[in-house]
Amino acid sequence: MKVRVGARSDIGRARERNEDAYLLKEPLFAVADGMGGHRGGDVASSLALEILEAGDTAEAAPESTEGEGPASRPLVATISRANHALLERAESDRELRGMGTTLTAVVTDDARAFVAHIGDSRAYLLRDRILQQLTEDHTLVQRMVREGRITPAEAGTHPQRSVLTRALGVEEDVSVDELTLDVHSGDRLLLCTDGLTTMVDRERIQEILEQEKEPQAACDKLIDAANRAGGDDNVTVVVLDFIDGAAEGGDGETVVRDRPEKGPPPRPAPEQAREEDADAKRSGPRRQVRWWRVAMWVAVIIAVLAAVLVGARLYIDRQWYVGDAGGRVAIYNGIPTDILGFDLSNLRQTTELSTAEAERLQPWRSLSDGITAGSFEEAQALVEQIRRDLQSLPAGRSP
Ligand code: MG
Repeated sequence: MKVRVGARSDIGRARERNEDAYLLKEPLFAVADGMGGHRGGDVASSLALEILEAGDTAEAAPESTEGEGPASRPLVATISRANHALLERAESDRELRGMGTTLTAVVTDDARAFVAHIGDSRAYLLRDRILQQLTEDHTLVQRMVREGRITPAEAGTHPQRSVLTRALGVEEDVSVDELTLDVHSGDRLLLCTDGLTTMVDRERIQEILEQEKEPQAACDKLIDAANRAGGDDNVTVVVLDFIDGAAEGGDGETVVRDRPEKGPPPRPAPEQAREEDADAKRSGPRRQVRWWRVAMWVAVIIAVLAAVLVGARLYIDRQWYVGDAGGRVAIYNGIPTDILGFDLSNLRQTTELSTAEAERLQPWRSLSDGITAGSFEEAQALVEQIRRDLQSLPAGRSP
């Protein structure tokens, strides 16, 4: 399959710099929308695409057509490396703290396209006059839509619509959405940043993609539409047309952006966005996972405690001793002690023998503390011994 490409990035009408970037390095194509104060957004989107480009050259070339898709694993591995590179760069440069970027990338081979995605840039497929959104936005409002808390229309105007729940450069572990699709001749893929989708509705995007036959003309028209609608954000589009024929190989074009270098960062403070992001995460699936873990541990602890209690009960029930019950020698089942006020024995038999008298005899001096026996019969034998000893005691004699 041959791919014809159009691409363009534009600063828009409201921003003072362009923090979007795109990458064309056949068979790898990508868009990225950077965020963060000062130079952060620029650095984040550029760095991510540079690492993607290097990774692609080194190992992401689609040699195999087996498995999940063309070069899927190497691309995801490269994205993970880009994530760590962003974190390290932000760690070493104060000005770049809090930077991050979206990334929507596609690797093509003869018959398939593998899409990897994180953030709120998007990939669309136009096939047989149907425009299908291939990616899901990783945004707070998208989550709210999914949960039925707001409608898709409300999401479009929601004040927090740009708050991301996932981006590159935010956390150590990044979860990348992956998708493999079979491509047919005549298919058109669109990669774009939210500067297009927040300004131009889906119907208009489809209309332009259907009208403009040349991929570059389609890109120009899409950018134009976003700017006519206000151009509130940087806008970047890549259009890929799949047509029958052999691939021509890379044209060497790499990371591209259109960016005048001036002015303060116009984006909302990344700290705020990140806090809201963290809020979103706290109420998300991670929290559910945590609760399941807690519930599991509670169940394990309860099971262990129950086993210990049952074991202790069985042990105690097999223990016997002879002791005192209200001044009389008695037989108990259990052990002659208590734990936290709980008696660990039951009185089984009281005799007529006086404990005080028995304790006057040397062998039975500690009778009140309990004299253990191996069984009820053994305890009865001990009682008999005490009786005999008391009977053999000469009247009036003190030990
Ligand atoms: Mg944007």
